[in-house]
Amino acid sequence: MKSKYITFSKNIFIPVTNVCRNACDYCGFRARSFEDAYIIGMKEFLALVKSKGTATEALFTAGEKPALANLSSYFKKNMLNSGYSSLLEYTKELCKLAIKHELLPHCNLGVLSEDELKELREVNASMGLMLETTAAELEAHEESPGKIPKERMKTIAEAGKLEIPFTTGLLIGIGEEKEDCIRSLGAIKSLHDKYGHIQEVIIQPFIPKPFTPMWNKKPPSFAELKEVVRAAREILPEAVAIQVPPNLTSPLELIELGASDLGGISEKTIDYINPESPWPKEEDLRKMVAPFELRERLPIYPGFVKKGWYSEEIRPLIEKYADEEGFRRRKSK
Ligand code: SF4
Repeated sequence: MKSKYITFSKNIFIPVTNVCRNACDYCGFRARSFEDAYIIGMKEFLALVKSKGTATEALFTAGEKPALANLSSYFKKNMLNSGYSSLLEYTKELCKLAIKHELLPHCNLGVLSEDELKELREVNASMGLMLETTAAELEAHEESPGKIPKERMKTIAEAGKLEIPFTTGLLIGIGEEKEDCIRSLGAIKSLHDKYGHIQEVIIQPFIPKPFTPMWNKKPPSFAELKEVVRAAREILPEAVAIQVPPNLTSPLELIELGASDLGGISEKTIDYINPESPWPKEEDLRKMVAPFELRERLPIYPGFVKKGWYSEEIRPLIEKYADEEGFRRRKSK
């Protein structure tokens, strides 16, 4: 059954650090040298959240386990200089500040342990980790220990045990076979069947980035994308939304095949993972999805708002922003 609305959220995109222990062949985000490494400073962060406009979400993205990266000395030195001992400690503090500034945090920090997820749960409305694919031994992931599918499935399962509303997804066109997509969707379905925590599955096309080993590789065709969205709608339970990024693809035909969410857009910040692809504005989204009705949601989906899957630290903001259906209230209190 098709969703009643096509949903989206409004965020501030916060790249906490681009230092990463992995080296995925398609990644244009990761720092390759000391010169292009960064950790977002407190001042810069506060300026961003203060300029939030109508956003309700603080989307935190970071390289995975930067303390284990080949640029770890940069990371550790700068973390300690700012008075924090780890990415987790710093990001948790940023989440608390985001809440103070009336933004609901959503962290995407890569593979995390149960204890790390538990720490972050208190200050996050939802969290995310792209499964990407269950295909093991992809050339694109040869230098990426964090892309071992079992490791990622473990993090997603731990999040389920902790009742964290969760976002995951597939990255299409990174060397996987068609059957891998079907298996990956099946794996996500199994996790959701067990824990009931998957709120959305992103179907994201790989886009080649300059200066990366996959710069000359073609992105997946629209027909391939359609096939995956169709399969996703068949395999995943109805309660799990299928998200397609409107800055990377044209959504209407994918909506007709069962996609019902466009993810987060930002008025103030760029998509740091795909900086060449600007976010459409809200009015553009409305036109893109017509005749379907566009509806704004929070980073936590309506079903999880209703189930009360959030902490006491998050509660006041949910009460401020959510309407009786669990979507974003049309006008803030
Ligand atoms: S894990 Fe993410 S940030 Fe790190 S190299 Fe891979 S795609 Fe880039």
